[in-house]
Amino acid sequence: MNRVYNFSAGPSMLPLPVLEKAASELVCYGDSGMSVMEMSHRSPDYEAIIGDAESMLRKLMNIPDNYKVLFLQGGASTQFAAVPLNLIRRTGKADYVVSGQFSGKAFKEAQKLGYDVKCIATTKEDNFDHVPAVTRDMIRPDAAYLHICFNNTIYGTKFPYIPDTGDIPLVADMSSCILSEPVDVSRFGVIYAGAQKNMAPAGVTVVIVRDDLLDYAEEKMPTMLEWKTMAENGSMYNTPPCYSIYMAKLVYEWLLGLGGLAEMKQRNEKKAGLLYAYLDSQSYYIAPVKKESRSMMNVTFVTGNADLDKKFASEAAKAGLKNLKGHRSVGGMRASIYNAMPYEGVEALVAFMKRFAADNPKA
Ligand SMILES: *Cc1c(COP(=O)(O)O)cnc(C)c1O
Repeated sequence: MNRVYNFSAGPSMLPLPVLEKAASELVCYGDSGMSVMEMSHRSPDYEAIIGDAESMLRKLMNIPDNYKVLFLQGGASTQFAAVPLNLIRRTGKADYVVSGQFSGKAFKEAQKLGYDVKCIATTKEDNFDHVPAVTRDMIRPDAAYLHICFNNTIYGTKFPYIPDTGDIPLVADMSSCILSEPVDVSRFGVIYAGAQKNMAPAGVTVVIVRDDLLDYAEEKMPTMLEWKTMAENGSMYNTPPCYSIYMAKLVYEWLLGLGGLAEMKQRNEKKAGLLYAYLDSQSYYIAPVKKESRSMMNVTFVTGNADLDKKFASEAAKAGLKNLKGHRSVGGMRASIYNAMPYEGVEALVAFMKRFAADNPKA
């Protein structure tokens, strides 16, 4: 076995113990005589898996009882439409913060549906090198919700604070930071996240929604997008993404075994701290993100020379450090260091960065 350090932004690394556990029960789960992939989602074995997944996630994130936890399909991108379709009827209008590509897409999707949506803050003119300061007076008092993307995967920024929205529900795309540290769920109306960054393989999207927000769906709501229907059916209105949910359960189990999200926060701070400390100590690489908005999960940097950036990514890959190329829309490098990335992986990256800088002086 020759596993590399995989810095992919998503789908991304999964913890080795999780993969090994899945492998050990791939062909035959417990005494069921079949794989989880072959099981009826209505079987007692599967009911236990999805039930455990939910209770473990509730425990990990300390999710209050007045929130529903849904395991859905369609990725975070489907929620870009589901959010307005489920919530806009509250008041008829909604506000958005555009702090990167995904929040821009969420905003456009709501616009496309013909709704009265307003971008109340953006950092586009600064190439999204930080997240905007959002205060209560910026939000329309009759907005149905405020939508933010908590961690901007592509630019490597994160909200260092939870915007105060008063009584207006805060909706957050947490695809690339969920489970990376404790977060006060009660400050949010809705949290959603595609699994393939920090939770499980692609295929399942988690939606955490406060009970009182389930009653505003559009009249002609597509059933599959309606949170209330999914909540009433335990995420099994139709066939759920069974295997991805099972994998998520194994990841939750792994996290609980390590000590939960407080422990992950410490580990993630240590990993990101090592990389940022190196970036700040030298001038060969430039970290474009403003310090106060730095993401702990996605660390972006450039050499300032596109050819060198390209060479960096390809030589790093040869050295067993894969997928360091930045997003195709921004270039440069990006190291995604989610929960599954060990500290040693970041150490290896920093050692490689030092070698590369020494071997490739800038003209
Ligand atoms: C990856 C990502 C998305 C898109 O997720 P899909 O599951 O591919 O739809 C949306 N938002 C954020 C923050 C992401 O990182």
